[in-house]
Amino acid sequence: MQPQPEPTAPPEAEGAVHPVLTPVHDFARKLKQAAFLPRVREYAAWRRAVLDARATVRPEPAMPAWAPFSINLDLTTACNFACDHCVDWDILNRGVSYDDARLRASLATMARHGLRSVILIGGGEPTVYPGFVSMVRTLKAIGLHVAVVSNGSRNERILEVVDALDERDWIRLSLDAGTDATFQAMHKPKKKVDLDEICAWIPKIRERNPAPRVGFSFIVTWQGAERVAGVPIVENLGEIVEAARRARDARFDYISFKPFLVRTPEGAEVIDPEASRERHREVVAGIRGALDEAKTLATDTFAVIESTNMKLLESGEWKAWTRQPRTCHMQVFRQVLSPLGLWNCPAHRGVEDGRLGDLDAFVDEAHLARTARETGRALDRFDASERCREVTCLYHDANWWLERLIEDPGQRGQAEAEAMDGDFFL
Ligand code: SF4
Repeated sequence: MQPQPEPTAPPEAEGAVHPVLTPVHDFARKLKQAAFLPRVREYAAWRRAVLDARATVRPEPAMPAWAPFSINLDLTTACNFACDHCVDWDILNRGVSYDDARLRASLATMARHGLRSVILIGGGEPTVYPGFVSMVRTLKAIGLHVAVVSNGSRNERILEVVDALDERDWIRLSLDAGTDATFQAMHKPKKKVDLDEICAWIPKIRERNPAPRVGFSFIVTWQGAERVAGVPIVENLGEIVEAARRARDARFDYISFKPFLVRTPEGAEVIDPEASRERHREVVAGIRGALDEAKTLATDTFAVIESTNMKLLESGEWKAWTRQPRTCHMQVFRQVLSPLGLWNCPAHRGVEDGRLGDLDAFVDEAHLARTARETGRALDRFDASERCREVTCLYHDANWWLERLIEDPGQRGQAEAEAMDGDFFL
């Protein structure tokens, strides 16, 4: 393979801004925790060896048999809602599924090779998966931290398994509305379920087990935003405060606000203020005012959280976070496993050049070794500076920190100084 140029200037050199990241969104910091740092150091040393070999035209070492630290696991592509703002619209309801025994074998293999956390999430509704409850129990039994992101329609299944979760685990319901009318218009549930009914499950879940944090997720949408050209989405901007009040009263631990994302024709998830450029300033002012009011509802037991993307959209500095290094290092540490295959990033789920393997990519040791080699190749094949140039990447900071660690092993000392608290979700 020919030597490839690696852009090395970190974005700070160009005056990029750094919003204050909440610890849960500070992925560079998470990688510095004791549980991750030895592998991160090994990765940087391996990457340096690859670049040295390339520069001196020697055979390059293959990536060792590492599993990612954290995966987004799409249990199914089936969904019982038809949300007009769904970023995974094009990959839903494909009629493909795992062989359950092989999926469990894959997770056990990954756990032996470094996997620490699993987020049961999108591409479909996880609680629709027939083995959802026993899958959560299996994941906990093999020592993994577990998160569930659900549309709230089958909270009885979450109640059934919440006893298995602990204080490191979390549940987040994607509800996006303060009123049932907006909830119905945005989510279009295929079977009757309303927002009051969904929220009424939260006290029951908390009474059965108060340990895991339970969140209310709100993707902020505005008039003029479209999922694809010509498909406008329902506006919920006016319900930010009402949703925060509802979440607090229903005993959620927090509500988190994120801006609406769209998929580009190439498949990447991006913030798209261009589409509503004329209203951009007005939209941002409306969001700020509503978030400030929502924050007055916070208590000792209820938090109001803005996502990194929301902070960047508001500050107008989101463009700086679309500048990625050529190599996306995070694809080694966090991947997406779905019935459609293994992907390098949630933002490229279902996009062909982000594909790292099939749904059996980790089913046994031989598959895992092969998948690791393919991931190593993807580090060079997938040009993040080009492919993610429109993505306001949440891993931007972490990728640049890893870039510097590879260039300058002296960064290790700094890494060692950082302590973290066992949050293994990436
Ligand atoms: S640079 Fe960011 S958006 Fe692109 S693949 Fe990596 S993590 Fe995903």
